[in-house]
Amino acid sequence: MSKRDYYELLGVEKNASTDEIKKAYRKLARKYHPDVNGGDPEAEARFKEINEAYEVLRDPQRRSQYDRYGHAQPGAGFDGAGGFGFGGFEDIFDMFFGGGPRRPSGGGPRRGGDLRFDMTITLEEAASGIEEEVEIRRLDTCSACDGSGVSPGSSIVTCPHCHGAGQVGTTQSTPFGRFSTYQTCPRCHGEGRIIEDPCKECDGQGRVEAARKIKVKVPPGVEDGTRLRVAGEGEAGYRGGSPGDLYIYVFVDKHDIFERNGHDLLIEVPIQFYQAALGAEIEVPTLDGTAKFTVPAGTQTDSLFRLKGRGMPYLRGHGRGDLHVRVRVEVPTSLTSEEAALLRQFAALRGDTVGEGVRDKGILGKVKGMFEKHA
Ligand SMILES: [Zn+2]
Ligand SMILES: [Zn+2]
Repeated sequence: MSKRDYYELLGVEKNASTDEIKKAYRKLARKYHPDVNGGDPEAEARFKEINEAYEVLRDPQRRSQYDRYGHAQPGAGFDGAGGFGFGGFEDIFDMFFGGGPRRPSGGGPRRGGDLRFDMTITLEEAASGIEEEVEIRRLDTCSACDGSGVSPGSSIVTCPHCHGAGQVGTTQSTPFGRFSTYQTCPRCHGEGRIIEDPCKECDGQGRVEAARKIKVKVPPGVEDGTRLRVAGEGEAGYRGGSPGDLYIYVFVDKHDIFERNGHDLLIEVPIQFYQAALGAEIEVPTLDGTAKFTVPAGTQTDSLFRLKGRGMPYLRGHGRGDLHVRVRVEVPTSLTSEEAALLRQFAALRGDTVGEGVRDKGILGKVKGMFEKHA
């Protein structure tokens, strides 16, 4: 099997700088990493090739050997120092897990954690948008030591136990050879440095728990369950790391009379049967007041009317959804004798009989009549 040229594999020129090679490698490793390719064997093979190429080209000595001898270089292959090396994995860790110095392992700045805060607002507030102060308990930078964890006048010194390595090793001789094992330094917990006199306020942690009031701006038109990000308002970073973010989850309460459907609202209003028959101007509640509109003569129950632009505002950009009004035609449940007489007169005018008191037909008769009508 012929091997592909290392430069070609990484897509760089023969005279590429170490930096360019590293950049190209990272880009390709990210693309072909087995974790992001769901174990695709082709990607895995490619990933190995890329790693092999990088192992050689990152090392000036091996690179110049490769330049002179190509793949036939002495010592290359799977038995010697060449071949597929694992050294590149540290770089992969760096790029997948946020980077920072890997050694001493526990030292260096770390980004603060993200926080979540849930708030519930009314539909009216969701329509208008609100600004509210919320109180968050979080880890803040210690003001006494400014986050360093060091008492004023004291300093950070190299750990005398591990001499700054952050790890301590023990070497054992066995019949198979000498084996070294490394452990995180118990004195400095892997940081390589210790604080001579830790800050009393924060116990040397550089952060203290504190309650903070944070102004949250909820934009008009938010949906139930919207997540808002307030950058930099999460936990303070560790040892000068950047702070985390605060995520506000906004929940919108159900409304008593308005039903929400995206940007549109739906409301049901009762009208009297004579309004439905004659037509009428009616007033309906809206989220920000009332609106008038005309129900035409002959309106049937459950008819829908649309009031343009009276719904919820669009979250981004201008304009609003619509308000849909469903009218429910109400029939009076009790009548005075005078009202009853008028309605009988109305029926008579239409050449109709009301059929009052005809009980023998009963419900079954009415249902039968319906079927006959539809047949
Ligand atoms: Zn402190
Ligand atoms: Zn140590």
